[in-house]
Parts: sequence; C-alpha cells; structure tokens
Amino acid sequence: MSDSLRNKVVVVTGASSGIGHSIALGSAGRGATVILIARDENKLNKVAAEAHELSGAPTYVFPTDLSSSDQIDAAFKQIIAVTKHVDYLVNCAGFGKFENFVEMDRREVTVMFQVNVLGLMYFTRLIGRLMIDQKTGQIINFGSMAGKVPTVKSAAYSASKAAVIQFSNVLRLELKPFGIKVMTVNPGPVYTNFFNIADKSGNYVKNVQKFMLDPDDVAWQVVHFFGSNKRELNLPMSLAVLAKLYNLFPAIGDQLSIKFASRK
Ligand code: NAP
Repeated sequence: MSDSLRNKVVVVTGASSGIGHSIALGSAGRGATVILIARDENKLNKVAAEAHELSGAPTYVFPTDLSSSDQIDAAFKQIIAVTKHVDYLVNCAGFGKFENFVEMDRREVTVMFQVNVLGLMYFTRLIGRLMIDQKTGQIINFGSMAGKVPTVKSAAYSASKAAVIQFSNVLRLELKPFGIKVMTVNPGPVYTNFFNIADKSGNYVKNVQKFMLDPDDVAWQVVHFFGSNKRELNLPMSLAVLAKLYNLFPAIGDQLSIKFASRK
C-alpha cells in the first residue's frame, strides 16, 4: 500500500465495526495516525492493534458515547492532548431501526437523533474549529441513500440521514473560505452489523442482496477521495442514478418505492 497518509491524523467515529472499522484500517494502511472512537473499548483496542500493525504509527482509542455531549467534550480534550492537528474527520458512527414511525419507541428516536445527527454536529463543531485554526482539513459525514430516497419503515432513520446531508451541504459553504472540505458519503445497503439492529427480521437484507456493498469497498472509495473536492459519494452507481431520478419524478418514485422497496 502507499504511504500517502504518513504523518496525517485521521479521526474515525464508529471505528469499532463495519465501515468505520474498514476506513480506520484503510487509513492506517496508507501510514496514517488513526484516532478511533465508538463505545466498545475492547473492539476499539482490537482495531487499534490491527491499525498499528499496518501503519507502525501511533494509534489512539477514546471510548465515547456520541449521544452524550459531555463525553464528546472529553474525547475532544483527549484528542488535543495527543495531537495538535486533525487532517481528516470521518463521522461514521450511527444506527438505524426499521419500524413504522408511529410504532417506534420515542426514546429510541431521540437517541437515534442524538447519535446520528446531534452528536455528529457537536463533534464536528469542535474539530471544525481546530481545522479553521489549521486552515486545512476535511470532514466526511455519513449520510445514506435513505436520506435521499424514501422507503417505508425508516422515517426516523431517513430523517436523521437527510439532516446529515443538508447539515453537510451548508457546512461545506461555511468552511470553504477556511480551506476546509466537506464530503458526504451516502451508501445503499452495506454488509455490516448495522442490520443486526436495523433489520431484526432479516427481511430487508434478503430483499436487497443484489445491491449489498462490501464495507471494505466503501472504505476504499472514501479513503481514495481524502483531500479531494468531491461533495458527495453516492454508492452504488445504480442507486445514485435512482436518487437523481427520484428528485426529478418524485410521484412516480413514491409508487415505485412502495411497489419494490417496502418488503422490510
Ligand atoms: P455498524 O457496523 O453497526 O457500525 C456502527 C458504528 O457506530 C459502530 O462502530 C458503533 O460502535 C458506532 N456507534 C453506534 N452508536 C454509537 C454511540 N452511541 N456512540 C458512539 N458510537 C456509536 O454499521 P455500519 O454499517 O458500519 O454503519 C456506519 C455508518 O454508515 C452509520 O452512520 C450508518 O447509518 C451508515 N450507513 C450504513 C449502511 C448499511 O447498510 N450498513 C447504509 C447507509 C449508511 P459501538 O457500538 O462500539 O459504540
């Protein structure tokens, strides 16, 4: 692998599993110093050991529940104690639950927004200020195809991801004068632990097999676009086209979504 991220610092939230885990290793494989954030310390330590093996560079683990602003403050302090700069922030932590909105436990909706949206925004605010002082950096936020194309049983999750996408669109404009880039990643279904929580019945996973992405492939693309001016990474291409068509013909899109994408 190349050494293109040697001496660069990459902070990854959601690094204990799935796409975040793969992005951490993809970055370490290019020599980066990685800072790993999620709740599960044991899993993070395992990822850190793999990352260090790949990079030979320092790796740091800061267990944090991103639904808590106090814990986010504490994580930021720990980051500043070990490094004075952050080159890339990858906000990958998040979860979903596929249920009809009116049947959802409202506390679950609250936590989903605390992690997927407010935690991401608050952490971004802290790292964003640091990047403004540095006059360089890139923030990569995980939205989802769910934030672009509606499908049943995901009103709350889709709303959280639509919020991330539009938050990122505005942030991109606000941070551009400081030389800071903002990219959104909007994947379709990716084969990770995400569905252990989101899709307990397993129906959705069965129905979207043909669109399923590999987390390592998603991570490869994300790391490939580190430092680029790309606004959005929409994956796979077939769903990216579908999202564009939905924007143009939303009424037909609604009918097709009900017909083909409601078997959750
Ligand atoms: P995953 O394997 O379940 O990973 C989710 C990560 O988020 C884990 O590292 C988890 O770590 C972390 N996390 C969850 N709640 C947290 C909290 N309260 N505080 C801190 N960290 C928390 O799922 P994934 O597929 O890799 O998901 C990564 C991102 O991609 C998510 O934002 C998801 O919405 C998005 N996405 C996924 C898919 C998909 O089909 N898989 C599609 C589109 C978008 P801990 O449990 O250790 O805290």
